[in-house]
Amino acid sequence: MEQRASKVVIITGASSGIGEATAKLLASNGAAVVLAARREDRLRQIAADIRRAGGEADYFQANVASSEEMNMLVRHAVERYGRVDVLVNNAGIMPVSKLRELRVDEWERMIDVNVKGVLYGIAAVLPVMRDQRSGHIVNVSSVAGHVVSPTSAVYSATKFAVRAITEGLRQEESPETGIRTTIIAPGMTETELMNTVSSPEVKQMGEMLRGMSIPPDRIAKAIAYAIDQPDDTSVSEIVIRPTAQP
Ligand code: NDP
Repeated sequence: MEQRASKVVIITGASSGIGEATAKLLASNGAAVVLAARREDRLRQIAADIRRAGGEADYFQANVASSEEMNMLVRHAVERYGRVDVLVNNAGIMPVSKLRELRVDEWERMIDVNVKGVLYGIAAVLPVMRDQRSGHIVNVSSVAGHVVSPTSAVYSATKFAVRAITEGLRQEESPETGIRTTIIAPGMTETELMNTVSSPEVKQMGEMLRGMSIPPDRIAKAIAYAIDQPDDTSVSEIVIRPTAQP
């Protein structure tokens, strides 16, 4: 008889970095993971790696900035596994720059992916979790969701927003329905995130700081910790950064 996976977990931004590391770790802990992102070839490869290692994984191509695609993603997971225990809203971009550079299209993309993407994920999964009367929504914010620095104004604004949305959701849902929420706030982590930066000045600074970054599995372990708590215990926020990060 097929063994029932311990939890069904959807992870956005699972085609690289923190999302990929989280998918691999949770699958190795027994979860059935549904990987989502835009790069389908990467998702297919990572899902195959997970299955080869004995885990349960599926993938679905979705742009988090489309509410329709997020609805389709959640529907796909429910059709495949019958429920959704956890949604990890991890997809994000960080094209940071000074405000005076007026990179308005990048401000809009950050808001679309980092804020609307999280909201669309919540909108897609919340009715399912309310029906189940259980579920867990993990939203990836950042240390930049606590502090602003030059070039990070808009990115920080999106990550402050992620924290506000997550805390609001906790207050509304956790006492009534038992749906839990967790904010994950990573510091500098070695991923492909710097590839989304177009400002040459920021790119150069990023390269200088690269040696300080911690590997993405450190963040994955924090997500696994939050998810693994018993139902009566809610991990509201975890901040994880390199020891050397100011
Ligand atoms: P990566 O660039 O390695 O991963 C980002 C992921 O998001 C990719 O899988 C990418 O996939 C996906 N993504 C981007 N845009 C979209 C979109 N429109 N729709 C669907 N998926 C999308 O970076 P990280 O792993 O570092 O980033 C993960 C999260 O961690 C982000 O929210 C980031 O802000 C946050 N974070 C990262 C830190 C760091 O230092 N690395 C520090 C603090 C927070 P694809 O391109 O295939 O769609």
